[in-house]
Parts: sequence; C-alpha cells; structure tokens
Amino acid sequence: MSPRLVFATHNEHKVIEVAEIFSGHLDLPQGAMVSAGALGAPEPVETGLTFAENALIKARALVAFTGLPAIADDSGICVKALGGAPGVFSARWCGHHGDDQANLDLLIAQMTDVPDPGRAAWFECAAVLVTPDGHETVQTGTLPGTLGHTARGQRGFGYDPILIPDGETRTCAELDPEEKNAISHRGRAFRALAPAVAAVLTAQAG
Ligand code: IMP
Repeated sequence: MSPRLVFATHNEHKVIEVAEIFSGHLDLPQGAMVSAGALGAPEPVETGLTFAENALIKARALVAFTGLPAIADDSGICVKALGGAPGVFSARWCGHHGDDQANLDLLIAQMTDVPDPGRAAWFECAAVLVTPDGHETVQTGTLPGTLGHTARGQRGFGYDPILIPDGETRTCAELDPEEKNAISHRGRAFRALAPAVAAVLTAQAG
C-alpha cells in the first residue's frame, strides 16, 4: 500500500514502537506509515529550545518533502536539580550527538553528590501531527521519577538505566518493553495524538 502517513525519524525501532503504541487506538494498515529514513528525506537541524519546537521542525520539513501528513516527536530527560536540563540537549549532553553511554556517564557524574530528595527527574516527549494544509497538533507526555545513583538494567536505551519511575524500584532499563510503553512519556504523548491522526486517516479515506 502507498504511504498515507510519514514519521519524521531515521530510527526504524521508533517506527515499530510507535506503531505498537497506536495499535488499539487507531487503524493503521501495514505499510500505511513510513519513516523519513526509508524515504531518504533529509534530517533538519533541531534548533528549537523546546521539545515541541523541535518536533514541529521535523514534521514541517517532512510535510514539505513528501506532501503527506507527518508525525514527529522529540524527547529527553529533565532533571529538577539541573533546572530541567539536559532537556532538549539530552542527545548531545556530552558535547557531541548520539553517544548514549557518554551522555549517561556525564549525568551520573554531575549528580554524584546530590542526595535522594533532590534527585527528581522526568522523561518528557512532545508528539506532533502536521498536515499538508498547515494544521498542527501538539501533545506532550511525561514519565516522572527519581535518578538512581548508578546505571542498572540492560533493556531500553539512553538514560533508561538511571531513571526509576515513581512507584517503581526498578529503572526503566529493568522494565519489559510493554511495561515501559504503558507508562512512558512517548506512549502518553502518542496515545494523546492518536485521535487527531485517526481523523486525518479517515478524511483521506473519504
Ligand atoms: P529523541 O527523541 O530520539 O531525539 O531523543 C533524545 C535523547 O533523549 C535520546 O538520545 C536519549 O538520550 C533521550 N531519551 C529520550 N527518550 C528516552 C527514553 O525513553 N529512555 C531513555 N532516554 C531517552
């Protein structure tokens, strides 16, 4: 089937994750959603100062490239003691882009002397839908928790080994993927976006 919705990501793992999050919330036939990476679309520079701005930059660029409705997200970890940082700089916190281990090690080192009551942190995600007629929908989701003192767990990615969700003793890297999806910032943001995406797909069908 030809694509009806494009996802502004070059990470195929994310496409699968979001398709799973959408399932049960909207009818997305196999092949209806394709990634920017699969289409060879360029990756715009993320110059935004908020998650929503960066997600909109990515989705608008992909609408311009494809002429199709586009979804995008931007996310990161925010630490209260650091005034909300790393925030939009999560992926490049160590000084260069995309080195998850170096980013994690730096954050652990920065927080070494902070005792438990000061270790509140949360994952945050903005999920957006932009349509070719310029209509934009923004939804956000958070996963509140506490920073552990050391990295624990083998699952997930990024800062998962250090965030312990509220009400949990395990880090996100110790949760099953289904458990994490059910409470995650991305799950919450994309589930909130699902009705707008469903409306666009229905309008296309009609
Ligand atoms: P992006 O949304 O893919 O741009 O993610 C930005 C950065 O935030 C990633 O490189 C990760 O370091 C971090 N991040 C976002 N979501 C998560 C998550 O669910 N677990 C762990 N780290 C995350």
